[in-house]
Amino acid sequence: MLSVEDIARLSEEFETKSPQEIIEWAVGMYWPEIAMSSSFQTQSMPLLHMVTGLKRGMPVFFIDTGYHFWETLIFREFIASEWLINVIDLYRDPRWDVFIRQNARTLPLEDPNLCCYLHKVQPMQKALKDIKAWISGIRRDQTEVRAHAKILELQEDGLLKVNPLLNWTKADIKRYMEENNLPKHPLYEKGYRSVGCAPCTIAVGVNDDERAGRWAGRGKLECGLHTAMFSKKDISESQDEFHIDVTKV
Ligand code: SF4
Repeated sequence: MLSVEDIARLSEEFETKSPQEIIEWAVGMYWPEIAMSSSFQTQSMPLLHMVTGLKRGMPVFFIDTGYHFWETLIFREFIASEWLINVIDLYRDPRWDVFIRQNARTLPLEDPNLCCYLHKVQPMQKALKDIKAWISGIRRDQTEVRAHAKILELQEDGLLKVNPLLNWTKADIKRYMEENNLPKHPLYEKGYRSVGCAPCTIAVGVNDDERAGRWAGRGKLECGLHTAMFSKKDISESQDEFHIDVTKV
């Protein structure tokens, strides 16, 4: 098992390695207790292509919030079947069904932090409970929070987050997409540079920031999966009791 010091040293070393080298290291170290997550949007394609090409059968978590564009669900089906991906859909805990049914239309607009917590963070926390390493596609050029991330991040609960694309830019994604002739999300050409849930995503101009269409005008930049609020310890220690602290988002 790697120490905190080992992980810090390796993370520094990986700053000059390619995403493929980082993924190969992570798979060699943690398979089969490793998984990746993907939102199946255009910018997700390079990492999906690399990881599933390097390791057949890699579990790919897709968070099905119930609020996705139908284009996302169709695209996810297409890619999963064409690339033979082991997609695992994650859903909110059914104990929230009545509450969500009563507030389905208003929740994303009135309390997006709570909505993301119930639909994204908790399902992912639960899915990662028995996993040792989680490959994520975040990049430093995407948001202020992500700009301070490290390639290897050890959470308090022992989960290692691996961010192979952290040093990549929008231009790197474009180059890899073109070199490998990868398909784009159907909404990409309509101005949806970053695609999340339908109530929280709008199209943007060609010169706008890639994520400007996410929670636009609502002062929210992250869903919570990549912020300090994410800790699988919360759910493993309180399986039968949910503690919603949206102030931590
Ligand atoms: S992105 Fe919007 S609709 Fe999706 S879980 Fe978050 S608040 Fe809810």
